[in-house]
Amino acid sequence: MRDVVLKVEHLKKYYPLRHAGKGENALVKACDDVSFELRSGEVLGIVGESGCGKTTTMQSVIRLIEPTSGKITLCGQDFRSLKGKDLKEARTRMKLIFQDPYSSLNPRMTVREIIAEPLDIAHGCSSRKEREELVLQAMRQVGLDPAFANRYPHEFSGGQRQRIGIARAIILHPAVAICDEPVSALDVSIQAKIINLLKRLQKELGTAYIFISHDLGVVRHIADTVLVMYLGRVVEQGSCEAVFKNPLHPYTKALLASIPRIDSERGVPEAVLAGDVPSPANPPSGCLFHTRCPYSQSRCETESPLLRGTRDHQCACHFAETLAQ
Ligand code: SF4
Repeated sequence: MRDVVLKVEHLKKYYPLRHAGKGENALVKACDDVSFELRSGEVLGIVGESGCGKTTTMQSVIRLIEPTSGKITLCGQDFRSLKGKDLKEARTRMKLIFQDPYSSLNPRMTVREIIAEPLDIAHGCSSRKEREELVLQAMRQVGLDPAFANRYPHEFSGGQRQRIGIARAIILHPAVAICDEPVSALDVSIQAKIINLLKRLQKELGTAYIFISHDLGVVRHIADTVLVMYLGRVVEQGSCEAVFKNPLHPYTKALLASIPRIDSERGVPEAVLAGDVPSPANPPSGCLFHTRCPYSQSRCETESPLLRGTRDHQCACHFAETLAQ
């Protein structure tokens, strides 16, 4: 079995909420008790609607924001305890691929400078020649012509800019790349090319991905395991095969039913999720999904369901067994 490169245990990110009627101790639980393991070369998909906590979870894992509590083990190191030089060094093993290739690249830097930036920060090269070779190699790996190294981001298309962002992320061969909605800002025709590029790099470099997306169709295509989030909590997680073939949580079922299948007889489906995601500042009692769940019963309004099941497939619903039949 492949090595665990990233282990996240009981991760929480709470924000204090101070406004009339809420009191001093009210909290927004943007990421609440999230745990998962990621093995070398594996892809973990994190899915859910906007506001479900995907991005907060990702930012807490990479410590762009400091988690409230929880443990993060990166390549055997206690990532949360690291500071200064040690943190900088550890961050070379976990890199971020941003959602928006238009705003994530510095318009005043050439492609060469952008891709070399992680090397320069990590002092990863002993000579200018070595730096140049690594930059040109990364450009080739992502399908960019090395002859364009002196150009600026505005001279490239959206898909090419995302390739520049990917080259910058993989140049240090990180153990983990966190992909934050990496194709959602791109044209549909370009999305498949970028997904296939990520899959190829995963095979070539053995990099593990955390792939954050609201699009279950894309996650199904690329991920080995999946974690479904709702209002900051994990409601279902397991192998992709188990979750997509036999979804247990009503929220996962609704998300799957929402995937457009315009080639099928039923055409584009009606919205199957009633209402909007409740405000995380004022979440429902009991099961967080009960205000939108078609199977909700009185118990659901008062009692929060625990995440339970087998190692391969877990779900947080009081009636998961009944609904599975
Ligand atoms: Fe629906 Fe109740 Fe299950 Fe929550 S616990 S998902 S409200 S059936």
